[in-house]
Amino acid sequence: MFSIVESKRKKPVLLFDTFRYTQDKIVGTTIYWKCEDRSCPGRAVQYGSAAPNLKKSHNHNGDENKCKAEEFKIAVKRRIEHSPQPVKRIYKQELTSLYTTSPQIAPSIPMFHEIKNSLYKTRNDSYPPAPHTVDDVKIEGIWRKTLHDSVKQLSTSFNDHWFMDGTFKSCPHPFYQLYTIHSVNNDLSTPELYTLLPDKNGSTYTHIQFYDYVTKGWHFRLNNDLNHINHPHFYVFIRAIQNDYAHNAATLSRHLATGTLPPRKKLYVNRNARLLNLEDRYQAHTLTLEEYFDKVSRLVGVKKF
Ligand SMILES: [Zn+2]
Repeated sequence: MFSIVESKRKKPVLLFDTFRYTQDKIVGTTIYWKCEDRSCPGRAVQYGSAAPNLKKSHNHNGDENKCKAEEFKIAVKRRIEHSPQPVKRIYKQELTSLYTTSPQIAPSIPMFHEIKNSLYKTRNDSYPPAPHTVDDVKIEGIWRKTLHDSVKQLSTSFNDHWFMDGTFKSCPHPFYQLYTIHSVNNDLSTPELYTLLPDKNGSTYTHIQFYDYVTKGWHFRLNNDLNHINHPHFYVFIRAIQNDYAHNAATLSRHLATGTLPPRKKLYVNRNARLLNLEDRYQAHTLTLEEYFDKVSRLVGVKKF
């Protein structure tokens, strides 16, 4: 087991077999590490990114707990950088998981109040300041990209159904509404497009809204990722959307390979079948558009549209 962390002075530190090393020199792709204790002859060598080898033994014992505590802090910080979840919650989850696997390390782990300044600094450093007005919005760098640095079309079939939906709660300031377009293919609903609207747009409030139930699970997941905060920080929201994309891509790839679907409430499955039936009737011109809308909205329990 080894990991490379950062010292307070931002220098790389190797944690290897309960010892701490600082970088001695780099020759080509070979990294030479020396024991952090200057009076110790302990040395390790690392070829490329492979696991290091001990070259010269130490004249003292290692400190396993100190190394583990450091690895813990790095793991928490990595998650703070990549997850929009609250800092304290991430700390708690990591602490619980550490205690489950290695309870003997717990006494060496700093308490939240002892490292919270450094953790909040990590959080602040990982998100740019939120824009105040729509004109301030200038999304740069990693914030423009999805996980794989591409805008990949998730939809794979011409038989997809498309649903549009708006939500206010998880929409970040200074926007008014988060508007999403989801494709539904074989009962798997996948968001395809996220749009932030600056103000109330009349046309989004037409008969389309009654498809809300299709996207309920998605709303719940997004709100949960955002810790049910109303109008989250703009970049925390973007991070949640990036994570959402990764989650959906993973679910969809599993679905396409095996046909597996996440379980859905029976109510929704039944409704979906009846919705499709209404749509078939509309396509076959046995229902007028007005009748179609009327039946659909009654089906999903919306009185007015
Ligand atoms: Zn040493």
